[in-house]
Amino acid sequence: MTEKTFADLGVAEPLIRALGDAGYTHPTPIQAQSIPALLDGRDLLGLAQTGTGKTAAFTLPILQQLAAVFEKRQPKQARALILAPTRELVVQIAKSIETYGRHLKLRHTAIFGGVNQFRQVRAMQGGVDILVATPGRLLDLMNQRHVDLRRTSLLVLDEADRMLDMGFVRDVTKIVAAMPKERQSLLFSATMPKSIEHLAAEILSDPVRVEVTPEVVTVDRIDQRVLHVDGKRKRELLAKLLDDADLSRVIIFTRTKHCANRVSEQLEKSGVAAEAIHGNKSQGARQRALDNFRNGKARVLVATDIAARGIDVSDITHVINYELPNEPESYVHRIGRTARAGRSGIAVSFCDAAERGHLRSIERLTKRPLTVVNTTEWLGEQIEVPAYTPSRPGAGRPNRRKGGDAQPGKRRHFGKPKGGETARNGAPKREGGQKRDGGPKRDGAGRSGKPGAGKHMAGKPRSRREGSHQSAGA
Ligand code: AMP
Repeated sequence: MTEKTFADLGVAEPLIRALGDAGYTHPTPIQAQSIPALLDGRDLLGLAQTGTGKTAAFTLPILQQLAAVFEKRQPKQARALILAPTRELVVQIAKSIETYGRHLKLRHTAIFGGVNQFRQVRAMQGGVDILVATPGRLLDLMNQRHVDLRRTSLLVLDEADRMLDMGFVRDVTKIVAAMPKERQSLLFSATMPKSIEHLAAEILSDPVRVEVTPEVVTVDRIDQRVLHVDGKRKRELLAKLLDDADLSRVIIFTRTKHCANRVSEQLEKSGVAAEAIHGNKSQGARQRALDNFRNGKARVLVATDIAARGIDVSDITHVINYELPNEPESYVHRIGRTARAGRSGIAVSFCDAAERGHLRSIERLTKRPLTVVNTTEWLGEQIEVPAYTPSRPGAGRPNRRKGGDAQPGKRRHFGKPKGGETARNGAPKREGGQKRDGGPKRDGAGRSGKPGAGKHMAGKPRSRREGSHQSAGA
């Protein structure tokens, strides 16, 4: 928060009243930097992620500018357009508009895919002041002539990097081309790769550049650990982690929708209340999943990156990366779900042999190595090492089962790894019989029985080096 007040920034009285109702007394840094420039009509390039207060940073000036000039709403038209990559984010922005604009007489609506278009078309019939939309469905409705942007003079692209990742760049370009050239445009992005710089140069005119909280600073508060594990044993490892009641509100990230479903189903079967959220779920199902997670009915939310954008749930104790993302920026977004509002948090990443490259990219971006937890010890010895099956002639190593001292049911203390159990690159040594590349990519059914009650990933992080090794690339 800043020393300034919203009044100092030029925010009008009805908005200040609404902010007061919501319990906001002082602007966040991005709000303090953006609002005056936006009220002046400037374009803006904002480098900021969720959790910084960026939604209010663009919503407040839009509401204020629209309320200042009376304009009759025109059929199918919107005076301002906010584009966001996911339905969740669209809904969340629409909620913010409702909260901050409650003492104004402006009309807004939300448009997104995955639901019947009927209500969205009807909402646009009389026109709105603010339209919040995902690019795909909006373009669809524009093509059907249900939406007309020829007089829309305010544009916000929120989470532009994610929008490009999701392949919305052509849709966005077409939508922008349908708008007047004379307009005020804002672009927010958590990261600023070249593609975003290009898009910004195309869309913005002499923008003010605002940057808040570089990501590395945010992730510094998060205890980040990596567990090197054979892909096939991730499920088993997850069950063991969740034995620990300290993991009370957990988001698990997967790369694919399919894996998200599978993990949540497996958890449900083993008695862990879990919900999955991803792009194939209907809007209603997603909302229900989120509500159950928020109100504590579900202990675990399994999410894909895209679906997780814009989820604002407080008090998440742990983020588990069941699969590492192939873009390091996504890792930062994921772990940022914990450690919100100045708290610290814990992020645990599973890494199989095929994901080591992703891990290196992540460490390069965050400029710090993840603490390696010795997984061999965690998994104990009661788990049978899978038999070796050559995937191609001459590949891999001979079938050597683990030594005869394995005692079913006996779990060794894992806190202090023994010398030599961790390979030079921080990964556990391959156990005899495991394939060099960590085995099949798909994580099939684990072999363990019921997870034991070992003391696992405690809520209180230990010192970074305890029970761990630093991985290479430090
Ligand atoms: P955002 O970055 O827009 O997703 O906002 C992150 C969270 O901060 C949301 O829960 C907002 O409701 C909250 N928030 C935004 N602005 C303020 C403020 N000035 N004071 C307190 N909370 C805020």
